[in-house]
Amino acid sequence: MSEQAIDRRKLQVSDEVAIQITNMNKWYGQFHVLRDVNMTVQRGERIVICGPSGSGKSTLIRCINRLEEHQAGQIIVDGTELTSDLKNIDKVRSEVGMVFQHFNLFPHLTILENCTLAPIWVRKVPKKEAEETAMHYLRKVKIPEQAHKYPGMLSGGQQQRVAIARSLCMKPRIMLFDEPTSALDPEMIKEVLDTMIELAEEGMTMLCVTHEMGFAQAVANRVVFMDQGQIVEQNEPGEFFRNPQSERTKLFLSQIL
Ligand code: ADP
Ligand code: MG
Repeated sequence: MSEQAIDRRKLQVSDEVAIQITNMNKWYGQFHVLRDVNMTVQRGERIVICGPSGSGKSTLIRCINRLEEHQAGQIIVDGTELTSDLKNIDKVRSEVGMVFQHFNLFPHLTILENCTLAPIWVRKVPKKEAEETAMHYLRKVKIPEQAHKYPGMLSGGQQQRVAIARSLCMKPRIMLFDEPTSALDPEMIKEVLDTMIELAEEGMTMLCVTHEMGFAQAVANRVVFMDQGQIVEQNEPGEFFRNPQSERTKLFLSQIL
C-alpha cells in the first residue's frame, strides 16, 4: 500500500456518534431480512459493508435513510430516532445523501437541473444560489462542462459523479453508497472511486456497500461483513483481510479476491 493510502487511514474520527443501530430487525412479509443488527458509526468514519448477494446490505443502508422501515430495535441518525414521524424522516433525509448503483438521475432534466431540483424544492434555496452550489460540486467531481447536457449524453462514470454531486448539493452530513461502481465499465470505476476518496479525505461520514477491496484497504477505517441478514464480523481493513475470523468471511474473501 502506498504511503498516501496509509495516511488516509489516519483521517479524523470524532467521538460524536453519527449513526447508532441497536438490536434492529426487519422483515419483508414473513422473510426475516435483518437480524439483531448492532452498529455504531462515529462522525468521520468510513465504513465498507460487504457480503454475498442477498445478505441484506442494501436493506440495511436503505433503513438508515428510511427508504425501508425496520420493525424492531432502534436506529438513531444524527440524534434523530427513525420512527413513523414524518418530520423525523424529512430531517434525516436532508442530512443523509444516497448514491445508488444505477445513478437514478432524472433523464428529462439537465445535469444542472438534476443538481438544483431538491435544493430548490425541498430546501427552498433560491435558484441562483442553488445553481452556484451545483456548479461548485460539479467542478469538484470534475465535470462542470457537462452542466447543460442531459444524463443520457454522459458516460456511466460521469453520470455517477453527477449523482454524487447532486447528493452533495443537499449538504449532507452522512453519505450512503450502494454499490456505486458495480454498474460501471472497468475504465470508469477509478474516476468514481477517486471522487469518493476525496470526500473521505474531507472528513465525510461514509457507509459504502462495495466489493472494491482496494478502496476498502485504502479508505475504510472499518470493514463490516454481512451474511444472511447479520453482521458476521467487522474489523479494521488490514486485520479483516489478513486475518478473517469466521469461515463465512474466509469463503467470501476467497471468492472475490
Ligand atoms: P444485498 O444488497 O446484500 O444483495 P438486499 O438487501 O437487496 O441484499 O436483499 C436481502 C434479501 O431481501 C434478499 O433475499 C432479497 O431477495 C430480499 N428483498 C430485498 N428487497 C425486498 C423487497 N422489497 N421485498 C421482499 N424481499 C426483498
Ligand atoms: Mg444490494
